[in-house]
Amino acid sequence: MVPSRAVSARGCDRTVTASNETTQSTTSLLFLADLRRVLAEDGCPLCHLRRQADERYLRSVLREGAMDAGLLDRLLSSGGFCREHTWRLVRLEEDEEHDALTNVIILQPLVEAALEELAALSERRRRGERGEKRRRGVVAACPACEARRQLEVIFASELMQALTLPDIAERFRSRRQGLCRDHFRQAWAAAADAEVRQLLREAQVAQVETLRTDLSEYVRKHKHQYRDEPAGREQDSHRRAAELLAGLPDDECTI
Ligand SMILES: [Zn+2]
Ligand SMILES: [Zn+2]
Repeated sequence: MVPSRAVSARGCDRTVTASNETTQSTTSLLFLADLRRVLAEDGCPLCHLRRQADERYLRSVLREGAMDAGLLDRLLSSGGFCREHTWRLVRLEEDEEHDALTNVIILQPLVEAALEELAALSERRRRGERGEKRRRGVVAACPACEARRQLEVIFASELMQALTLPDIAERFRSRRQGLCRDHFRQAWAAAADAEVRQLLREAQVAQVETLRTDLSEYVRKHKHQYRDEPAGREQDSHRRAAELLAGLPDDECTI
């Protein structure tokens, strides 16, 4: 079934590796490679890993979803993917395959189910029944959202383990941006080691204080008497503030 494959896909592989370092025996080398890469980019590293995992999940659906009876059953239970994932899957196949067959195979039974739902609706009305509290047949969450949610918990835990490695700790500490608010909370909850918790908190405080300074600077430079000053790092402070509060947008994955 696609979701379970995605959970064990590259980037979240938890295979124990033969290594002298205790941390690397519980945090996969593939995860560490992904983590080092996203730590070199701007923005919350867990958001980067989240949208990378999302992209990989959708690609796995394109490759195998049409033959995955478990996934197709699950989609009947959830009424399909959510709005975001439905459209991302449609666009992914259109843009990269110049085709729509996988989407057609996935959507066909859902359209049939929609017709059955309509038929049942008119039948209930004819019998004078009131509307149901829950849409008929829809009992599960979007499988892509559910896979993403599970992976975020794993990523937060893996990040906290990885922060016991000196090079990861240094890369994390020296970044301009910290974790977004939701991922900071997740990471904080996953941190078992007091030293790692302290590192996490100190880095986040320093990064948010820098952001606060940049936001003030942005406002100051809009005042008439300072308008001729050259633009600086405050210019993207609104985007960094949005990223802190809401996380990176999910639809800009570049893997
Ligand atoms: Zn984030
Ligand atoms: Zn979804």
